[in-house]
Amino acid sequence: MNQPIIDARINPVKLSLDSTFCFDCHKNVSCFTECCNDINIILTPYDIIRLKNRLGLSSEEFLQIYTEPQLLEKTDLPIVTLKMLDNEKKSCPFVREDGCIIYKDRPTACRYYPLGSGVLAHKDDVDNQDGFYFFIHEPHCKGFEEKSTWTVKSFKDDQGVEDYDAINHGWNELIVMKRSFPSNMHFTDKAKELFFMMSYNVDQFARFLQDSSFIQIHQINPDTAQKIMADEIERIQFGYKFLKWLLFKQGDFSVNQDLAEKRKNKAS
Ligand code: SF4
Ligand code: SF4
Repeated sequence: MNQPIIDARINPVKLSLDSTFCFDCHKNVSCFTECCNDINIILTPYDIIRLKNRLGLSSEEFLQIYTEPQLLEKTDLPIVTLKMLDNEKKSCPFVREDGCIIYKDRPTACRYYPLGSGVLAHKDDVDNQDGFYFFIHEPHCKGFEEKSTWTVKSFKDDQGVEDYDAINHGWNELIVMKRSFPSNMHFTDKAKELFFMMSYNVDQFARFLQDSSFIQIHQINPDTAQKIMADEIERIQFGYKFLKWLLFKQGDFSVNQDLAEKRKNKAS
């Protein structure tokens, strides 16, 4: 049901989309919901949009109530994980006896489980992470004793992972790019704040676009500006492109230097 991202439990065999395995998860497995306790689930930008909308919260409220900030290993990038409850089992806030109460909007990692995707793995030897998968083979998971046969591709299709991966693609790319740089290359605090807001705080990002001179300074065309104000998914995907340009100098943004200078002087 979910994807704990914990080093010790990762089976180091690399899988491709065609790799096959036997697995099933349903209410009659003896371990039902056991995997929804005491786990480290990294949330992606699209996870936040789905979950905050499901719960009727703003992105700020969701981040504050349901997440914990962390730095993603080997990247120094600020990310968030789902905050477990402060009870004996350290349960996921969304698990109940009869399963996950937000199942249709469950995070990417929960959809992938019992697979892990290379992009977010906390592993030392992950270099080419595109299309790389592995098993998270936890001792309590009886799903591997079931008869249903999958390829990685058919399992991903069944779990609705493709939409999530497509929307998060640009964000995953930023992580892979940062990992490929020397570990002593650090971003400024300001750049990390921007990464966090554009990745996770989609409502704050909208206010930033509205209240600052960002759109004018970066000469964003009116059609794009209208789209990213109106649509949360367009907004985060625009954010990925902007961050790629800002952090890695890739892409075709430009700066109106006169205007940027004027705004800077006005602010100082
Ligand atoms: S979000 Fe749902 S599937 Fe994921 S850990 Fe929580 S209860 Fe389990
Ligand atoms: S079979 Fe595995 S994934 Fe399903 S509930 Fe049990 S531990 Fe979780």
